[in-house]
Amino acid sequence: MMDYHVHTPLCGHAMGTPQEYIQKAIEYGLREIGFSDHAPLPEHLRQNITMEPEEAEEYITMLQKLCHTDKVAVKIGFEVDYPLHTTFDTRYFNDSRIDYIIGSCHFIGNWPFDHPAFVEEYNRRDINQVYHDYYTIIYDMVAAGLFDIIGHFDLVKKFGHRATKDMSKDVEYILQAAAGKSTAIEINTSGWRKPVKELYPSYDILQKMYEYNVPVTLGSDAHAPEEVAYNFDEAIGIIKKAGYRKIVGYKKRKQYTIVL
Ligand SMILES: [Zn+2]
Ligand SMILES: [Zn+2]
Repeated sequence: MMDYHVHTPLCGHAMGTPQEYIQKAIEYGLREIGFSDHAPLPEHLRQNITMEPEEAEEYITMLQKLCHTDKVAVKIGFEVDYPLHTTFDTRYFNDSRIDYIIGSCHFIGNWPFDHPAFVEEYNRRDINQVYHDYYTIIYDMVAAGLFDIIGHFDLVKKFGHRATKDMSKDVEYILQAAAGKSTAIEINTSGWRKPVKELYPSYDILQKMYEYNVPVTLGSDAHAPEEVAYNFDEAIGIIKKAGYRKIVGYKKRKQYTIVL
């Protein structure tokens, strides 16, 4: 089993050394641990949220040094914001040291909708429009074709705000596009640690993903070593219940299959 979504202190809001995350992965018996720290956002947005552009090299070199353990495979990835990815040097999209790139949306326009300090904005907006705007960004992100994995698919539910209209058409457009490009969607267990207390994505979306034949990865979104592999037993049970018998991993941006 693998955890493909863990952070490092370079982003400014995660604790513990990468060695401690790796140690936790070994204790849990993971075969792979993949770091996917926040790639640089534009300067006015990145303080304590992402690394600086010049730290990307430091990040890769630091992880390369940790790859030399036979107890667990260490993968090097990034979590890149869409559409705010332009601060991230384009050469990293064609860099053989990188195993995979997660595309995530944390901003609707200028609104950091998953940031607790800006949660009031949900009450000022039409919630169905918020969901539609969010899923439109995710669709565009898949269509852009830059990313291997879609991060926390329905993050917009983080604080428990629910669309009152049926969003399944928006979701299905994305799943169709993702299946066509073999873009994976991560099963992200951090939702269980947030006010929504639910897996990203929700079970009904997960069932649709299986119908559409969308590949899945697994990640804890750990920002501290003790969060590595968070609730994975439960998550794997749910993935299997939806029908999946295999998930996918990546090496140098090439996808491969792992039997559950
Ligand atoms: Zn983070
Ligand atoms: Zn994220």
